[in-house]
Amino acid sequence: MEARYAQVVVDVPARRVDKCYDYIVPEDLHEKIVPGCRVMVPFGQRSVEGFVVGRIDESEVDQVREIIGPVAGAPPIPEDLIDLARWMSETYICLLVDALRVMLPSGTRVESSVVVHVSGSEEEARAARLTATARRVFDYLVECGGAARRDEIGTVLGIGDASRQVAALVRAGLVETEAEWMPPKVRPRTVRAFRLSASAVDPESIADELAARSPAQAGILRALARAAQNGLAPTGPAPIPRADLLRQAGCSSSALDALVRRKLVERADLTVARDPAAGLGIPRQAAFKLAPDQERAVDAVVSRMDSGGGVVLVHGVTSSGKTEVYLKAIEHALSQGKQAILLVPDISLTPQMADRVMGRFGRRVAVLHSALGAGERLDEWERIRRGEADVVVGARSAVFAPVKSLGVIIIDEEHDSSYKQDDSPRYHAREVARFRAERAGATVVLGSATPSIESYRASEAGHYSRVEMPSRIDDRPLPSIVVVDMRAELKSGNRTIFSRSLRGAMQECLAHGRQAILFMNRRGYSTFVLCRDCGYVVKCPNCEVSLTYHAGCSEMVCHYCGHVEQVPTACPSCGGARIRYFGAGTERIEEEARSSFPDARVARMDVDTTRRKGAHRAILEAFGRGNTDILVGTQMIAKGLDFPNVTVVGVVSADTALNLPDFRAAERTFQLISQVAGRSGRGEVPGTVFVQTYNPGHYSISKAACHDYRGFYEAELAERESLGYPPVRALLRILIAGPDESQVVKAAGRAASACAGSKPVLEGQVEIVGPAPAPISRIAGKYRWHVLLLSGSIAALRAAALPGCEGPASGVTIALNTNPESIL
Ligand code: ADP
Ligand code: ZN
Repeated sequence: MEARYAQVVVDVPARRVDKCYDYIVPEDLHEKIVPGCRVMVPFGQRSVEGFVVGRIDESEVDQVREIIGPVAGAPPIPEDLIDLARWMSETYICLLVDALRVMLPSGTRVESSVVVHVSGSEEEARAARLTATARRVFDYLVECGGAARRDEIGTVLGIGDASRQVAALVRAGLVETEAEWMPPKVRPRTVRAFRLSASAVDPESIADELAARSPAQAGILRALARAAQNGLAPTGPAPIPRADLLRQAGCSSSALDALVRRKLVERADLTVARDPAAGLGIPRQAAFKLAPDQERAVDAVVSRMDSGGGVVLVHGVTSSGKTEVYLKAIEHALSQGKQAILLVPDISLTPQMADRVMGRFGRRVAVLHSALGAGERLDEWERIRRGEADVVVGARSAVFAPVKSLGVIIIDEEHDSSYKQDDSPRYHAREVARFRAERAGATVVLGSATPSIESYRASEAGHYSRVEMPSRIDDRPLPSIVVVDMRAELKSGNRTIFSRSLRGAMQECLAHGRQAILFMNRRGYSTFVLCRDCGYVVKCPNCEVSLTYHAGCSEMVCHYCGHVEQVPTACPSCGGARIRYFGAGTERIEEEARSSFPDARVARMDVDTTRRKGAHRAILEAFGRGNTDILVGTQMIAKGLDFPNVTVVGVVSADTALNLPDFRAAERTFQLISQVAGRSGRGEVPGTVFVQTYNPGHYSISKAACHDYRGFYEAELAERESLGYPPVRALLRILIAGPDESQVVKAAGRAASACAGSKPVLEGQVEIVGPAPAPISRIAGKYRWHVLLLSGSIAALRAAALPGCEGPASGVTIALNTNPESIL
């Protein structure tokens, strides 16, 4: 017999109601109400949407209500992800409903609408005791032919939310409701196209007439006439996309405009299918013959996959050929009839990796990343769910892809901080992957040249197997890294951004027709604007940070909240006129590169130059084709890219990351230098990397310079051990924020003392640090304080934190972050 009850998590984001509620499953819906599906349920006075997370035979609740019905058309959550959601809500101390929501393709959440159908007669309605408004609602429904959407009823009748009236009508047996899922509003992509109009009766002869006077117009007419002969669109002659038309006729748009003015040609735009890979012309790529390191790595991965799964850390230097190892792992999963998920750090890398994977597996690949529109993402998600695609490439959230029989999850650049989500649920894709794979008996492959301290330590402890790929493909040498002491540059009178050695090497490199990359961890022109006379620094009015000058728009911008203001002509503090710009961002580097190397073609890649869809790809392709000599950029260019003609890489300032007051600052600096260095010397010619710094002796820089990951790991682990920071213990950060500073301070104090009174703290299982102001003490007008909890046990952290987070004062928010990527 079917279980009589369903456990439902209601889609109401509040801790108070974040639990499972029991509902009776109506007789006729037993087949449809399965774990993972979405339903409408009565909840208090309202009806709300919810997720079915289980079925049970008995309920301990006295008065159980009945499920209203499934939400028609809504994509369900795969059943095996429900346990994962439970685990996430415990580990990241987030709402279960938030964990469930994040598993759906973004842009498609909770969009169901309620449709109201008339089920009683008008006589019955007259007999029923209804309020005047409820009667109006009923009359309106009858007028509409018996059904309407609930939100529309409210709007049309001008009564706002019609839920109360509809509920009354339901109780009176006059109407029934039904939930219908609305897919994300997808604007079909159209291209501008033109066709012959009805007045172009005999286009060929008009063309002949025109041929002498305007061959261009004649050409267009002939092309359109050909198209019209070859096929008819449903509503008239077949159109041709504008770009194709102009190309076929070999003319400019003025001829086309003239024909449109003469009403011989009309606009008829074409809708194109949404396909993220369309038109990219990705060539098929055959597999390489494996290099010895690759062979060993593939063996290690495959044997794990064949023996019940687990985690394999592939520690391979840049250019050791890790991608081919991933492709082989995917191939192996497919050969077992299973699916593979490949995660890449962020959108800038997705296209390159997606190309390589699609080049091998073609249409079996689905791509999920944030640059896709909501509709495209849903299409891809559905292809995966239906089993049409069995390889998924995507950013962080692709770890939830609805594959049926998971074989392997591969995480490229596993150390990357973008795998951690900033908002609730603050999950880490690596941890989620591990949980999901363990349940499925699947394998997780973590790949990096600079593994996170967490992962490397787990491999040292034997929790993960580890395979090393110490040599580059074709035994190319690792780039030599030169640490440039900028203090010495200054002493010898060089006040420019480029040290003499970097400048010299770039000259040489460009003279040989090779390419250079300049890396700067900060965008904009200068990092602060200062008055020479009084030392006043222009700060954001909303944040405790200085404003960055952007020369392109000659404005000062806050990189935290987006606040923009004009550059003052006089100092706001002393009235002096000696306003100066200090520190360098990518814009400034770009300018200096142009003036230092006037013959070179310089391009910049950062958030500011890549806002347009496709801009990433365009910049990288131009560089790849050799149309750019010097590429200046932020982190975006530090990862994964493969350009064989690059022989010089300059890290303009290694100190921007190192000087951050954060426990991962050294790790980030080491990773950054290694990753940036990896961009150099990937071809025939060896490369050199110049790391400019005022801290040449710091181990994160000196160990990176001699490619000594192990040495760095040991020094860094010792640091973490002395502080008891992750991965030695788990860290939970409680961030208290609000617009009123004294309220925030009070709330932080209250949270800390509530935690201090908890059992795990009293028993010495959890250590409390703080309360203290966060290193960035104000962002977007909100003051920020934090309390840090440290413990060997996440369960203990949760138990210690929960009393501290209860009912914060109004105007104050409390956010919990388990093992945060940074504590700025
Ligand atoms: P990683 O991800 O380790 O930095 P990649 O996978 O990007 O390295 O490989 C580096 C380069 O070597 C790429 O251009 C790739 O096409 C090439 N490559 C990889 N494996 C082989 C192989 N077995 N034989 C020849 N070239 C290879
Ligand atoms: Zn700001």
